[in-house]
Order: sequence, then C-alpha cells, then structure tokens
Amino acid sequence: MKVLVLSDIHANLEALDAVLEDAGACDETWFLGDAVGYGPDPEACVDRLLELAPRHWLAGNHDWAALGRLDVSDFNPDARRAADWTGERLLGARREVLLACEPRADIPTLGITLVHGSPRHPVWEYILNAQVAHESFDAFATAICLFGHTHVPALYEQGLDGTLRLPVAPDEGQCPEEDARWLVNPGGVGQPRDGDPRASYMLLDTATRTFTLRRVTYDIERTQAKILDAGLPPRLAARLTYGW
Ligand code: ZN
Repeated sequence: MKVLVLSDIHANLEALDAVLEDAGACDETWFLGDAVGYGPDPEACVDRLLELAPRHWLAGNHDWAALGRLDVSDFNPDARRAADWTGERLLGARREVLLACEPRADIPTLGITLVHGSPRHPVWEYILNAQVAHESFDAFATAICLFGHTHVPALYEQGLDGTLRLPVAPDEGQCPEEDARWLVNPGGVGQPRDGDPRASYMLLDTATRTFTLRRVTYDIERTQAKILDAGLPPRLAARLTYGW
C-alpha cells in the first residue's frame, strides 16, 4: 500500500496542490494535523482534505486554536491573529470535520503510531532535540511513530539497547522491524522551517516498509499575495521565502 503522509498544511493551497500533483495516485492519505493556521486558504485546504478523505486525519494545535478548543495566549501575536481570522472562516461541515479530529492515532496492525506533536503530549510538545526524542520513545509501543508540528523533516533512531542516534534525514530508507525503532517527521507542506522553502512530505510503502521524503517547489509568490490581500500579518508571507 502506497501511503501519502502529510503534515502542517497551514492553509497553503498552492503548496498542497503541488504536493498532490507530485505524489500521484496513492492508496491512502495520513494527515498529521494543522490543516489551517497562518495561511490564506483554510476553506479550500479543508475541502481538498475532504476530497482526499484521509484514513487518519489528526488535529494540530493550530486547528484547535482556530476552533476555540485551545487557549492561544501562548501563541505569538501573528499566530493569534491568524487563528482568529481562520476561526471566522471555518463554518458548517468544515468546522465539524476538524472538531472530530484527535491529535493521535495508533495503527497496531502496521506497527505505526501517528501524532501531531509528540507521543506524550500529542498537541503541544515539539520534538526538536535528542533529549525530547529520547524521552518520547517511552510514550509509544510501536516500531515507528510519525510526528509533525516542527515543520522540519527528521529521523531519530533508537537501538534495542535504548541508545539514540542523532537526527538524520535521509531522502529514503527502509523502516526498522526488529532491530530498532524510529521517530520520523515528514516536514511541513505549507510552512517549511528547515531553511528549504519547498513543500515537504513523505511517501510510505507499507508492503516493502520503505519511505521517501520529497520536496516540491510551488508558487510561493501567489500564496504570499493572498496572505497580504487577506490582511494577515506580512511576516507570515515573508517567512515562506526562506522556509523559516
Ligand atoms: Zn504546524
């Protein structure tokens, strides 16, 4: 089975459409959360996801913020402004489907756990360093955990003796079965933060247990123009140029 793994779309329709075209036909889509927030196309991006009908569709902190499910006092002013603006636009069926999402899904038949942030704090925690990654391995039981939230592609490996290998982000690889466990981040579709502005996503073949991390160029200027036209903070447009 060919699985399209997406995370952190952030209402960036141009990036999402570029990814879907690049990926081609897939058997299933797994989405790790943050469909909206920051970007100018929350309605259209939720509609795209409804068309894709992800087998697993997780909630992210920005989804919950826009829905009023989360206290946004920790958000920076730009993110808060975007959450308010987004919340006003999510009505009816789009709101309902986001309200039904949870930030974690376990797929024991495949030995895979999905979370937005981290397995111990699925909504909020960022896995950005070895210490947090090391502790996170205790919070899931499967061989692999896919996570998002940081918008940075990453792979942490834990040996059976509990030792941790520092993050590496190979473009492709073979998932562990008996000899190691993995925490893997496919990167962000709509707001990459690793210095590479291209949209990031992952293809996973569950039969061969191989994965491919892919990057795709998209029409950044068009997204930026929409952000400015919507009256969203200009910084949210500027950062897309740098992937930061
Ligand atoms: Zn995000």
